[in-house]
Amino acid sequence: MSSRFFFHLVAGLLVILGLGSCTTPPAPRDQLLIVLSIDGFRWDYLQKYDAPTLRALARGGVHATRMSPSFPSKTFPNHYTLVTGLRPEHHGIIANWFYDPVDNVKFDMGKTESRWWEGGEPVWITAEKQGVRSACFFWPGSEAVYHGLRPAFVKPFDKKLTVAQRVDGLLAWFALPAEQRPRLGTLYFDLVDDAGHKFGPLAPETAAAVKEADGAVARLWAGLEKLGLRDRTNLVIVSDHGMSEISPEQTVFLEDLMDLSQVRVEATGPYAGVRPKAGVDVAAFAAGIRAKAPPQVKVYLRAEMPARLNYDTGDVIPPILLLVDDHWQIEERGRWSYLQARDSRGNHGWDPATSNMGALFIARGPAFKRGVEIPDVDNIHVYNLLCAALGLKPAPNDGDQRLVKAALRR
Ligand code: AMP
Ligand code: ZN
Ligand code: ZN
Repeated sequence: MSSRFFFHLVAGLLVILGLGSCTTPPAPRDQLLIVLSIDGFRWDYLQKYDAPTLRALARGGVHATRMSPSFPSKTFPNHYTLVTGLRPEHHGIIANWFYDPVDNVKFDMGKTESRWWEGGEPVWITAEKQGVRSACFFWPGSEAVYHGLRPAFVKPFDKKLTVAQRVDGLLAWFALPAEQRPRLGTLYFDLVDDAGHKFGPLAPETAAAVKEADGAVARLWAGLEKLGLRDRTNLVIVSDHGMSEISPEQTVFLEDLMDLSQVRVEATGPYAGVRPKAGVDVAAFAAGIRAKAPPQVKVYLRAEMPARLNYDTGDVIPPILLLVDDHWQIEERGRWSYLQARDSRGNHGWDPATSNMGALFIARGPAFKRGVEIPDVDNIHVYNLLCAALGLKPAPNDGDQRLVKAALRR
């Protein structure tokens, strides 16, 4: 590390800790917003693990004890909810993988065609429409063209890039001359989710990943300081969901509950979704599954899903859903192996009310209140706050003004 970089890092940390200078806030139109998602950062990692930068940002800004994800607590649905304010059933990214029976097409995490992403207006499009330049250094959906529009700057997803390279990539856009510089940036880290899956949420490797992510946030803050932008930057740091321990022993098999030749299996893991084939009586088939289900499995027809899960609208959601308790998974025996299952110690996707599925929310910067702790907040409210921090009129969405009222300085 060069001594110059070290100086900026220390200066940045002092400011984060509230020991640096405090100036009058810049005019709202001169303020910038960077939204960082640390995938799989469970709400309690902040206290559990060594994360001095994030903790200082939380202490000095607005921190939600826990943020509730939307169902299913998976990466793609929740990232699009965070930037649209829409529930997955409304923006249409209802899972990481899913099947559209109407058009007979499949979605997966590599799909960037517009058709998948035009169900909800992401904040970078709201920004571009209202004359605010945006720059996405990774975010699900950011590579898609939205009704002919896209972010001014976008970097196609490249998992190989280190968190430091991602930070430096975003900073390079913010270093552009004022007339080219974006006012909105997104950034995404996946190392904490990767470690959580492989080693489990309580493992030292996951603690180390949290520490590395924290270091990258310090690098971002120091980089903004170096560019003279730190005092006008609003930082919103979120995650998409938490992480729970899993074990191969806590597995229920679909084959024990139903005749799989009668269905198309559309989701397995912390919940399952099946679509009965044409001619099968869906309600009777669901009743048959329910009769065989062990106590940790709840069987629902799509239309009977608990209202709080907001997962009962549209043909794309599987007609029968099987929800399992935390730590339990539901799999196809034919596609499962004990040895493979043993290699994975963590997962997410359960009911958002499950404590372990809770996510991270921190907001820090001139637009936000200081030293405010708020209780559990639902992630549909984040989009309205992002818009408010940039002075944008939000598109219609499922959130309300509660986070704006709790977090925005007036
Ligand atoms: P999961 O943990 O199964 O919900 O999925 C998370 C995975 O999504 C991570 O391992 C990421 O590498 C991957 N991912 C995140 N963003 C993108 C993106 N924009 N394009 C493709 N894959 C992504
Ligand atoms: Zn995720
Ligand atoms: Zn994950």
